[in-house]
Amino acid sequence: MAVQTLFPTAIPSGTTRQVVRLTAGKVLRSEELSLGEREAAAGILRANPELGNPHIVRCDWCHETRMLFRDENDAPFTRTIATTQGWLCQSCDVRAASQEVSF
Ligand SMILES: [Zn+2]
Repeated sequence: MAVQTLFPTAIPSGTTRQVVRLTAGKVLRSEELSLGEREAAAGILRANPELGNPHIVRCDWCHETRMLFRDENDAPFTRTIATTQGWLCQSCDVRAASQEVSF
């Protein structure tokens, strides 16, 4: 993937998700964030309200972890339909823990 500058309005949606995901990962790990970095991620979310905040999804059994938006499935996790929000770990057949990451 080409290196892109952080202009939320100019980058395609797949990349904006990736920017938010990477920034959310840093927030979770309590890494040092530049003010511009946090602002860029927050700005993307404000500009794309349908996206919602990313969630850190973790299975307590196999310890798989993914950063997912609420409309995303990524193996081994699939979104549960029975509840409004949440994911199932298909490998273990258990509900995964998820935590919303906000900026
Ligand atoms: Zn699992």
